[in-house]
Amino acid sequence: MSEDNNNGKEYILDADSELRFEIEQKDAKVFVTLISGFAELFGTELVKKKKYEFGIGAKVAIFTYQGCVLQVTGKMDVCYISKETPMIQYINCHAALEQFRTDAEEHDKRGPVILVVGPMDVGKSTLCRILLNYAVRVGRRPLYADLDVGQGAISIPGNIATILIERPASVEEGFAKTAPLVYHFGHKSPSGNSVLYNAVVSKMAEVTLQSLDANKRTKSSGIIVNTCGWVKGYGYKHLLHAARAYRARAIFVLDQERLYNDLLRDVPSNVHVVLLPKSGGVVERTKELRHESREQRIKEYFYGNMRTPFYPFSFEVKFQDLRLYKIGAPPLPDSCMPIGMKAEDNKKKVVAVTPTSSLLHHILTLSFAESTDENVIGTNVAGFCCVTEVDMERQSVMLLSPQPRPLPPNALLLWSELQFMDNHA
Ligand code: ATP
Repeated sequence: MSEDNNNGKEYILDADSELRFEIEQKDAKVFVTLISGFAELFGTELVKKKKYEFGIGAKVAIFTYQGCVLQVTGKMDVCYISKETPMIQYINCHAALEQFRTDAEEHDKRGPVILVVGPMDVGKSTLCRILLNYAVRVGRRPLYADLDVGQGAISIPGNIATILIERPASVEEGFAKTAPLVYHFGHKSPSGNSVLYNAVVSKMAEVTLQSLDANKRTKSSGIIVNTCGWVKGYGYKHLLHAARAYRARAIFVLDQERLYNDLLRDVPSNVHVVLLPKSGGVVERTKELRHESREQRIKEYFYGNMRTPFYPFSFEVKFQDLRLYKIGAPPLPDSCMPIGMKAEDNKKKVVAVTPTSSLLHHILTLSFAESTDENVIGTNVAGFCCVTEVDMERQSVMLLSPQPRPLPPNALLLWSELQFMDNHA
């Protein structure tokens, strides 16, 4: 039910219902205020009387367990109230995780590590956000690992990352991304290099599982792992690999019974596989929209957003000073490999890249590794640059970077398939 009012529209929500809206128009702004009752956005409680601002691209649902009144001003493309939501099932999952966490706390064990899986656009990231928010709201400090290299929410596309969640996500901007652990992959889908993807996931799992032990509160809180929406063929094998690498205690499967049954068959019986419904509000994205949202993430990395704009720097680097590498050499038959090595190992090999004009617009990852003798795959990423110009005559490139300083003298850069057209100026 909604009522008109001078200051916009008032929406009266019954218990267990949500107001869903989408904003697609450029420069459109929508303001939402909680007038009375209690409400939350993907698990973050709204503060009464506070005005929240949403801009282009927002696709959100404001849910209430007890009922509430919301005041909304501004133009939305879609806006409706729904009483059909899977929030009760989602909060039950949180309750089950809490039982694992309490048990872990009592016995000084590691808390639950759970994987959220499902095809594209079923609300995997949203479910992770809800579960993480509920966990911090009851005093937990879980880790959030995002293995989705196409639409990841922590780092820019082409990487996997983990952060510690210490406070609920901001209603408008999501989780704070302070001090993430980021590993370079370099492709927008695991299919870009399946062997490398599994190696990077294994490394992330190993390091983060170990790091759990360093802090008692995080140890019992566990890890929530978000995955890619590629669930068939090799995509499915990647999910099994991730479940093994993280020694997952539970797998939450969104929306797909077939995937649920396959997992039930293929994972050890002590792993709880739970089928959950998708929310009817989850918005499907076309291939173009996915591409746009990848570009938007990269743009935000360099230029920030409306609330917090960044001003990146540009500098020239001579080819001779560019220590550029790529992970993955062209495949060779086993018979051509040195003794003791498999053809597969070539996929993880660090090979030098000779700069040419084809580097234009590519993202380059600045690794904390200083030489290729180090474990480049398992070394944290320091940041990203984008090649905005290649001058073959001057034998140099122009790099866009969030840092004012030119690259450190022994900077090791890793080529990424991802590109960004810098037409911001
Ligand atoms: P991907 O395939 O990219 O991994 P996903 O399965 O993780 O996608 P989400 O990113 O969680 O899906 O959801 C897709 C979009 O739907 C997001 O923009 C999210 O904000 C929106 N969304 C999720 N739940 C709801 C809801 N209940 N009402 C309205 N919008 C929603």
